[in-house]
Amino acid sequence: MVHRCDPSMKPRKTSKIRRSPRALRTVLAYDLGGTKVAIGVVSEKGKILEEKRLPVPFEKGKDAVIEFLCKEGRDFLRRYPLIKNVGVASAGPLDPRKGILLDPTNFSSAQGNWGKVPLVKLLSKGLKRKVFLENDAAAAILAEKWIGAAKSVKNSMILTLGTGLGTGIIVNDQLVRCAHDLHPEGGHIILNWQDQTAPCGCGNLGCAEAYLSGRNFARRARTRFANPDLTAKDITELARKRDPRAVAAFREYSEILAVAITSFVVLYAPEKILFTGSFADAFELFAPETRTHLERLLARRRDGIDLMPRLEVSKLENEAGLLGGAYVALFEKESLRR
Ligand SMILES: [Zn+2]
Repeated sequence: MVHRCDPSMKPRKTSKIRRSPRALRTVLAYDLGGTKVAIGVVSEKGKILEEKRLPVPFEKGKDAVIEFLCKEGRDFLRRYPLIKNVGVASAGPLDPRKGILLDPTNFSSAQGNWGKVPLVKLLSKGLKRKVFLENDAAAAILAEKWIGAAKSVKNSMILTLGTGLGTGIIVNDQLVRCAHDLHPEGGHIILNWQDQTAPCGCGNLGCAEAYLSGRNFARRARTRFANPDLTAKDITELARKRDPRAVAAFREYSEILAVAITSFVVLYAPEKILFTGSFADAFELFAPETRTHLERLLARRRDGIDLMPRLEVSKLENEAGLLGGAYVALFEKESLRR
């Protein structure tokens, strides 16, 4: 199932989207991931007026996390009392229309998995505002189409590389959704179903996410070092200094990324693939080799219509999720009500 985005993705006077009165022209937005949350106030033009990035207290359980999100949001709303709408880009799976989280793969605590959580209802109650929910990767590609690197193409995809691997896709200027309004979970395409070295948060082995998220890159790369505390950032720094173990970890990463991208290309043919999330900082370390592998894997798909996508890092500086959350609160509400 797809829904139509305004091709220019900008509010127009002729658009069916209702023009907001002045008070509606800034929104509160959240980008909720498996480790951190970004919370900020965003204008109708996509300008972030103020923002906070905080670790999420997942260890305290879901009720405490919801209370934390409400408390932090209320701090902003006290300073911006005219804000009426709130947009939440969250790791999935989730139901954007009903506003429910469907046991998100990377949200867990000692108390166990989250199960179904009516996030929109809980946040609306806590913030006393209208709340809209979208998958974080869908939000990110909507933001790229709105004011970022996907503006100029009809077919694009974003990979969010953080705790998990999220995928957001626009085909022919329409955001791709699956049945039940679900979101294409490209991170859980299985690349090797028997690989015991690649356990995924979803319970299966060998998902793309189990190799390609920032967290899983670090988990796999650490086995090459004696130090079990190295983070993805540390290993990225080592690779920049040409440490051979770190370079080898990126070599493996690039090969697997090219395999996953080939599957996305044969399904959706994106002209551009964008990268965002904390691990996208390492783009220059994995992109050149990924391109080389992709050229080989797509060799027979470049005649006539060239399916080789352009790989680019997001220019929204790791803010695509937050801006997408804002976009949904500003402009997408009409289409979600269909
Ligand atoms: Zn998985």
